[in-house]
Amino acid sequence: MTAMKENYIARRLEANGVVQGVGFRPFVYQLANRYSIKGEIANTSSGVSLHIEGIKADIDQFCRDFSEKCPPLAHITDITIRPAPFEKCQEFLIAKSKGKQFRTTLISPDVAVCEDCLQELFDQDDRRYKYPFINCTNCGPRYTIIDDIPYDRPNTSMKHFNMCEMCQSEYNDPANRRFHAQPNACRSCGPYVTLYDSRKNRIETDDPIKQTGMLIKEGYILAIKGLGGYHLVVDAENDAAVRRLRERKHREEKPFAVMSYDLDHVKKYADVSSEEKALLFSFQRPIVLLKKKEPNPLSNEVAPKNRYFGVMLPYTPLHYILLNQDFCALVMTSGNISEEPIAIDNGEAFERLSGIADYYLVHNRDIYLRSDDSIVRMTAGSNRYIRRSRGYVPLPIFLKKTVPQVLACGAELKNTVCLTKEKNAFLSQHIGDLENLETYSFFKMTIEHMKRILDIDPVIVACDLHPDYLSTEYAKSLAGIQLIQVQHHHAHIVSCMAENRIDGPVIGLSFDGTGYGTDGNIWGGEVIIAEKNTFFRAAALSYVPMPGSATAIKEPWRMAVSYLYDAFGPAFDDLDIPMLKAMEQSKIETIIQMITKKINSPNTSSIGRLFDGVAAILGIRNNVNFEGQAAMELEMLAAEESADVYDYEWIEEDMFKVPTAPIIKGVVCDVEMGIEPAIISSKFHMTIIRLFSDLCGLIREKKGLSRVALSGGVFQNSLLLTGLKKILEDNQFKVFTHSCVPANDGGIALGQAIIAAANLTHS
Ligand code: ZN
Ligand code: ZN
Ligand code: FE
Repeated sequence: MTAMKENYIARRLEANGVVQGVGFRPFVYQLANRYSIKGEIANTSSGVSLHIEGIKADIDQFCRDFSEKCPPLAHITDITIRPAPFEKCQEFLIAKSKGKQFRTTLISPDVAVCEDCLQELFDQDDRRYKYPFINCTNCGPRYTIIDDIPYDRPNTSMKHFNMCEMCQSEYNDPANRRFHAQPNACRSCGPYVTLYDSRKNRIETDDPIKQTGMLIKEGYILAIKGLGGYHLVVDAENDAAVRRLRERKHREEKPFAVMSYDLDHVKKYADVSSEEKALLFSFQRPIVLLKKKEPNPLSNEVAPKNRYFGVMLPYTPLHYILLNQDFCALVMTSGNISEEPIAIDNGEAFERLSGIADYYLVHNRDIYLRSDDSIVRMTAGSNRYIRRSRGYVPLPIFLKKTVPQVLACGAELKNTVCLTKEKNAFLSQHIGDLENLETYSFFKMTIEHMKRILDIDPVIVACDLHPDYLSTEYAKSLAGIQLIQVQHHHAHIVSCMAENRIDGPVIGLSFDGTGYGTDGNIWGGEVIIAEKNTFFRAAALSYVPMPGSATAIKEPWRMAVSYLYDAFGPAFDDLDIPMLKAMEQSKIETIIQMITKKINSPNTSSIGRLFDGVAAILGIRNNVNFEGQAAMELEMLAAEESADVYDYEWIEEDMFKVPTAPIIKGVVCDVEMGIEPAIISSKFHMTIIRLFSDLCGLIREKKGLSRVALSGGVFQNSLLLTGLKKILEDNQFKVFTHSCVPANDGGIALGQAIIAAANLTHS
């Protein structure tokens, strides 16, 4: 007996991280019972605190399981275990969380329905058979239904539903997997779905979801309320239906995402690698870009002129029930018109989607915060976010150092905002393009919402340098808070540094479409030496005029004329380029007038525009329907490999200036010789890769820097990212890329926040 007494120990275990609303306490309760451990678990402001007593071997095993076997949604950032005095506990208890003391900043994102719940969902004997809102502590809505903290039912949109006796007893039982599952519900006490026609007449049916499936099969457009907002849904195999959706949504060519029941269905139209499979099945269930199979059964209208499909697996029980009706794939696109925010409210949906949807599948669990589907592509060995939203938000980016509380307002397009606290940077869900009133009010609402649920009161506000951005205007309007304006490309590079947890200086390659430069010109093909608080330009493309300013973004042929004029002067008219020949002469004349007389033609060093211009010269397209379309098609067109490059050069002044003329001349020469656009595209990509790796080599010699960070929307180009990363690594550079936040403007708020924080501590 004495031997046993000596073996009996007491410990205090503290764990920080995401541990609320993720099934953590039932997990610990069951673990304690398994190893006959007595004591208590309580929530703290940053995680959980445990007092545990038991036999040493059991305690050791308990502590090991605690970190290794914790629930899939829990994210423990650190654990400390210390000796503690005995309290002679008789059992293991879960202490009640109460008051402000237990407000934690880490809230779980929304989580796809789990395996256990799915089993019940399709079990005819289960009381939740085909109940579209089944969930448990391991799955279900979180971020989108929370209005305030702590994460308890009265602070969620589930407050309108009183649990029935059976649900309540599950909720109260620490051994049940629905213990404290805040959205817990069943058919007799929880939310339900209703089907309406476009005139808001309720459709009488026993099974609204089955009826919805039948309507989709008949070719109708359905608006379906989901987790983070409404989707517009059609059968992806039905050409006419997909085309009608494009017409009504005013979305001409931008690819639509699709959803399939399982992997077998996905494989009918796309290739799936093992990494992509893991991503598809992850609890975040993002849209994953997958290589198309050719031929494939889906309509050509789903993703025209694209080598990829955006594919996701079902993530709510409702999706599973709907897709389980023998669909190869359904188009599931955000319920909005073009770039407006996704609709979430039932009344709002009827109003804003009228004229698009034929029927509405609605439910009565409110969405408090809209959240679009996330989009990810596997490139160069990592996840690359194109949009980081549902499933990932509001999990923070974990920073290297503690920072003050900052609000960063992001850029104009693909806007997200960022709030920081301690070692966490909370990047918001995708907000969208801040050019209409709806998006702007969503932007303001998201900021207020996040401040509340994350308990953050910023001391600094950061925004872009661009004077005309709505986000800049908003930041300037805030009183009593220090304002720091951040250069766009500096913010891109620092966002990459922050997610990689490195400090400067680094060589930053910041490649994108547009960003306001410190000299008032439009930058975008920049090599900067960046630190967190400051930067300077080391190299950039030489300026060319952007005839018509923003119009030149929508009409890449204008950029083509500008680059050609820059390379060949007035004589460019004689060139044998089919795209020029097909153009009305007077239109070209107007552009030349604008360039020579400097009318509405700001200077740009943007590499995104160069890609656009080359795409137009190759005859890929003269006008675009969405930002980056021409550049994207140029990438998709490229032949697999090319060792060949065009001539390039630079001029060394205060920095390296890279004229585009030699590259344009090379491209034109190939066009005149009738070389295939696929070969030219590939050669052009290789030219950019070699050019910038050479420049990095020169900068390394001069500055002794060998770390390179790659950021900016142009790095969504997989050919460029993969090629540049490889050549730099072959040349012994250490290369940092994005795998936590988007390389595009959706990640820029993170960089803004870190730069603002660095400037505060340095002043
Ligand atoms: Zn579940
Ligand atoms: Zn119930
Ligand atoms: Fe940008």
